Amino acid sequence: MQKPLSWFKHYPAVIILALLVFVGLFATHALAAYQQITIKANVVNVRQGPGLSYDVMSQANKGETMNVISQKNNWYQVRLSGDKIGWVASWLVDNTEVSATSNRVAKVTNSFANVRQSSSADSQLLGKLNQGDEITVLYQQNGWSQIKYNSAVGWVQSDLIEVSDQAPATVQKTTTAESESTDTDTSSSAIKSVTTQLDNTKLRTGPDVSYQYTQSYPANTKLTYINKSGTWYQVKDADGNTGYVASWVVTPSEKNEVVKTSATSLSEATIVLDAGHGGTDVGALSTKSKYEKDYTLATVDAIAKKLKAAGANVVLTRSNDSFVDLEPRPALANKLKADAFISVHFDSSNEANEASGTTTYYYSSSKDMSLAKAINNQTKTLPLNNRGIEYGNYQVLRDNQRPAVLLELGYINSDKDFSYISSANYQAKVADAVYTGLTDYFK
Ligand SMILES: [Zn+2]
Repeated sequence: MQKPLSWFKHYPAVIILALLVFVGLFATHALAAYQQITIKANVVNVRQGPGLSYDVMSQANKGETMNVISQKNNWYQVRLSGDKIGWVASWLVDNTEVSATSNRVAKVTNSFANVRQSSSADSQLLGKLNQGDEITVLYQQNGWSQIKYNSAVGWVQSDLIEVSDQAPATVQKTTTAESESTDTDTSSSAIKSVTTQLDNTKLRTGPDVSYQYTQSYPANTKLTYINKSGTWYQVKDADGNTGYVASWVVTPSEKNEVVKTSATSLSEATIVLDAGHGGTDVGALSTKSKYEKDYTLATVDAIAKKLKAAGANVVLTRSNDSFVDLEPRPALANKLKADAFISVHFDSSNEANEASGTTTYYYSSSKDMSLAKAINNQTKTLPLNNRGIEYGNYQVLRDNQRPAVLLELGYINSDKDFSYISSANYQAKVADAVYTGLTDYFK
């Protein structure tokens, strides 16, 4: 019985430290729980899942803000207008962390709780929760909690649930101010009208449910868009009545058509670029004993610049002259669930000036071939002879679970090839070829 007490006597510092760490973890969690992102690319796709393989459900414009629900594989799960949940690539958005209550686990404390389509007791019933059910609260306002419900969102009355952490009951005013200031006119100017999703959608005198409503509309009512105020739209109906509707109960129309053409999938792609060799592994040598490792790095830098400018998430297996073993290179692509892995090398023949040209290597025809074809089609435009696509049993390809190719971009011990390999002009041409190849591949 004396044991715990005596243990505390001997190790009070350890216990206090453990408590501090415990409290610290919770504080961090509370602060990071609610995040708002602002779209920084001209237009981004919102997809049904965290990756390029998922269908596009809508698009968002530069300056638009969204609330983050969760994060996976460098993608953000976000809450959209129209009560939908979708995913955007994290590198195409700016992340503004704000401290407020949201995205918390809560429990139903009442014997049951109705889940409704909007924050009003007369809105459509979506379903019912039972006492003890655990839910994720995304947002709270005016006595209502927006929750994750069946891969969309719904609303329950806040007094029927208990949120696990103590926190302010409403989102701080600064959040609204922020979304207003980052939400420039250009982002919303493409919206011509909005269409109600639900029966009994209220037109209110101000941008908040605390304002009185003057009209209510059935589902599929088209309203003319005037302006945006935080997460509310100022609109005008067919009879000329103006007021505000909540953005999440309406669908902005004629918005997708306006922006659709400028979105490219390359901007959503995660590309791992692998500069061959490095550090003590110098690679092959030119006739004047220049190292392959230096030109693979310079070429990868040129490719990276080009792809980053297109909005892609570019990750390098090495970014300086350091030794990186073979094993971690494909492992990085696997870990990131990269959409493509491209390894850059230069060939070498037994005798100097014996061979010339570029080759694209693949390992798995089912996984790698379409990427190999798309890129090799473009490396054909390079000034060196294209030797085609070949099977290559390289570890960086063999251990790769992601679409992967290894490019041999010329023979380093050919004086003719080396004059290209070592020139910034050729490196830029390679970057253009890889960029165009990837753009075709992701089409
Ligand atoms: Zn090599």
